[in-house]
Amino acid sequence: MTIWRYDEVRDDAPPVHVDRAGTPVRGLPAWPAAPRPFTSATERQGSPAARAVMAPDGPVIAIVQAHSDDLSFFGAGTVARLIRESGYTAYLIQTTNDDKCGPTPSVGETILANERETEALAGILGIRRVFNLGYANHFLDAASVAELRARLIFLFRLLRPDVVMTFNPAHPSEQNPDHWVTGQAVEAARWMAGLDKDYPEHLAAGLAPHFVRGRLYWVARAGQPTNRVVDVSDYLDVKVEALAVHQAQGTAGATGSRLRATLASRGLRVPALGDDDEAADRAYIRRFMLAPGTELGDRHGMACAEPFLYLDESDADAHEATVAAWVAENAVTKG
Ligand SMILES: [Zn+2]
Repeated sequence: MTIWRYDEVRDDAPPVHVDRAGTPVRGLPAWPAAPRPFTSATERQGSPAARAVMAPDGPVIAIVQAHSDDLSFFGAGTVARLIRESGYTAYLIQTTNDDKCGPTPSVGETILANERETEALAGILGIRRVFNLGYANHFLDAASVAELRARLIFLFRLLRPDVVMTFNPAHPSEQNPDHWVTGQAVEAARWMAGLDKDYPEHLAAGLAPHFVRGRLYWVARAGQPTNRVVDVSDYLDVKVEALAVHQAQGTAGATGSRLRATLASRGLRVPALGDDDEAADRAYIRRFMLAPGTELGDRHGMACAEPFLYLDESDADAHEATVAAWVAENAVTKG
């Protein structure tokens, strides 16, 4: 199954996956990536591509992750489902550059490998655009949180998401500073973006205040609160492909093929890992990486599920409705 990221840049030629030396590389998208809105210096805000980004039809979700593989683990099935079944336009914002999580000692190549994989993930899920904010990996707490928040406020006013998906800002049992700083910056930004006194230059440039009302906080660590279970049974294959993208870092992408190689060096093999690296990676992901989702699904009569804490502005809506009902009941004609 091939899911193209942009209809307007659709290219039915098979992508060429090569490294800098021209050697074919499995699991990475073609480089350089296809042209996208806002990436060319010659593009203007008023271009059709830019207008398509700023004013899509239907609801919008902004996913804010710290690292290339966060969304794949915690919410890939739900995002795929929102795009395909509910008509969402999705944007992926990544706060760090992944420079500590890579396949080589080279910092530059590590960043590049992860960046390519994030683009590949966006292609698999159908995400319209990735914004890389580029902060140093593992050191988001050393960055200016006010600057990060300001950048997110700008993006929320530009993209006007109905929902953000990210880390729980309360972060119980979270050890990674990139995760909790991202969650806290998003929570503040999604609120401040709706106020009309913060960053008036945005308004002068043509953007309008925009509250992001819905928050889907994924469950990154055991013990984090949840009040929603999303059935992603029909998106198991998409989730496997999303996890398989991450060859550079984490416990998903290339772990199965590494295990297969280790076994082979000891004269062993596990038939369930298949006959090649690609099959081994996917078999490993299905057996081990999907386990939390299938176990959660078991408890709810689903093949696979993703848990979230969902919050919205229903309290504020209820308050406004109460005031409106009180006015309707008690208002008399002034005279
Ligand atoms: Zn992470």
